[in-house]
Amino acid sequence: MSRIHLLSPRLANQIAAGEVVERPASVVKEVLENSLDAGATRVDIDVEAGGSKLIRIRDNGSGMAAEDLPLALARHATSKIASLEDLERVGSLGFRGEALASIGSVSRLTLTSNPREQGSEGSSAACEGREMEVQVKPAPHPRGTTVEVRDLFFNTPARRKFLRTEKTEFNHLEEVVKRLALSRFDVAFSLRHNGRVLHNLQPGLSQAERQRRVATVCGPAFMEQALYIETDIAQLKLWGWVGLPTFSRSQADLQYFFVNGRIIRDRLVAHAVKQAYRDVLYHGRHPAFVLYLELDPAQVDVNVHPTKHEVRFRDGREVHNFIFSSLHRALADVRPGDPAADTAVLEDGLAVDTATGEITRQSGLAWGAQPPAGAGAGGFGAYRAPTGPAPGQAMEQLRAYARVHGLPEAGSEEEAPPLGYALAQLKGIYILAENARGMVLVDMHAAHERITYERLKAARASEGIRSQPLLVPRAVAVSQREVQVAAEHAGLFQRLGMVVEVAGEESLVIRQIPVSLRDSDVEQLLRDVLADLIEYGSSDRIESHLDEILATMACHGSVRANRRLTIPEMNALLRDMEATERAGQCNHGRPTWTQLSIEELDKLFLRGR
Ligand code: ADP
Ligand code: MG
Repeated sequence: MSRIHLLSPRLANQIAAGEVVERPASVVKEVLENSLDAGATRVDIDVEAGGSKLIRIRDNGSGMAAEDLPLALARHATSKIASLEDLERVGSLGFRGEALASIGSVSRLTLTSNPREQGSEGSSAACEGREMEVQVKPAPHPRGTTVEVRDLFFNTPARRKFLRTEKTEFNHLEEVVKRLALSRFDVAFSLRHNGRVLHNLQPGLSQAERQRRVATVCGPAFMEQALYIETDIAQLKLWGWVGLPTFSRSQADLQYFFVNGRIIRDRLVAHAVKQAYRDVLYHGRHPAFVLYLELDPAQVDVNVHPTKHEVRFRDGREVHNFIFSSLHRALADVRPGDPAADTAVLEDGLAVDTATGEITRQSGLAWGAQPPAGAGAGGFGAYRAPTGPAPGQAMEQLRAYARVHGLPEAGSEEEAPPLGYALAQLKGIYILAENARGMVLVDMHAAHERITYERLKAARASEGIRSQPLLVPRAVAVSQREVQVAAEHAGLFQRLGMVVEVAGEESLVIRQIPVSLRDSDVEQLLRDVLADLIEYGSSDRIESHLDEILATMACHGSVRANRRLTIPEMNALLRDMEATERAGQCNHGRPTWTQLSIEELDKLFLRGR
């Protein structure tokens, strides 16, 4: 072993860079965050070769004076906090004062800046990853700052080796820009790659402008199938867009959650969201959302992780509860008749086979296909638009057909129920109905299953859970912490029909369980619940288990395929659907109905209108 010595500033910075600068995308994140912290209203990002050759970001923010440039490049130098108290209520994205120093130690970095409103006399400072010595010289620049980062990792070959293809690196980088663009609707963003403009996002704070940005960033299909929510209680506010359960994804790649404007990935939040979608999402699929949580900065600690992707809530339980209940409510309220809920397809033309539950790719002509090309910016204008234009000829024909066959005729648009009136049954599986917009198809088994299930749940809520004592109480060996948590939550267990008592310092005993769980592994269930309670402060496992059993009962008790229904029976089912929570999906998250508008029908028949 050699003697202890101080690290050179350069090496210290390079070590810090290991944490903060993983790839070009991390440089973009840090530099853009600085621009936003500087109050910029416009940022232009210019990238070459996926960012490994060049990243140039120009902003119109506050700028820096010549004498501040060397400091900006020094480690542990920041203008954003001065004391520990400041740290406890950080309002800026940065505060650690190490990003520029780190980036400068592993690239060729040039800062050019001007803090003055008038004139263009700025100054520039360069540091070449060498001894961190900075030369400042005059350079023209309008108010604001340009940060140029060339040849990332040129002096750290080991890191350079970890870079992936240009395309992959650019995708990561673009994702960072998208996140920040979603975090600040009031700022204009442009992104160029190898000289090509890929994004040019206009600023705007009206609801329409925000929606336009979300549609551009997340795709118009998301916006078309998203609900806008906004709730607040005491100190917490949650707003944003949640994808309908039928717009689920195969990956968790369309999930944006912002806490006080900062994007985060947090287990507690993820758990609350997952729990809210539990009853409506197809197994193995992921929900899509863009959500904003706002709370007193003192209630959340952002200094948990160097890249600040994680946060710690002072009152995690309350936050969990709030997110869960807000989303749960919003999703339960989605039922036929909600304008945003009138399609039932997965993204990218994926469809669910209602018989096998298999998810398949649909052929080009299916309804729910992507909106026409070019719909990007204006395409979501249809979002929440009232029902389509007055029905034309096709509707007339359907009416005539109904008259001839003695079927109930659709009344005027105002009084017609959202799912319309049944016309016929197809193959003993589907109900064909007509509503104001055109044709409605309902999977009668899936729909009935949801209705029965929701009824069973309602009955359970009003009558309580039937539970019975175990003949032989079951002893369960657990940790001290688990015993403590079980005691704290005795009420939760009781409410769900389970009696769990403390039997010793490290042992619990299960005395009573819900009747419907008598064939379940209750010991494992108890362990899982305790693990949830320790980690998230809440658990929905028992309910989830009880629900599963109700769902199975509902499935068996529902109208089977191939049963003939009379027209009044079919209409009754449609009315039930309209009155049932979560009626847009069956208990397995598959869609229960779909709409084919007159326009879409016309398109199928190449009928010009
Ligand atoms: P931090 O953001 O944590 O303060 P950085 O190393 O990212 O640390 O930046 C150091 C300092 O340089 C910032 O505190 C800020 O004063 C200044 N700075 C960096 N980028 C900009 C910018 N685009 N406009 C104005 N000032 C900037
Ligand atoms: Mg910073």
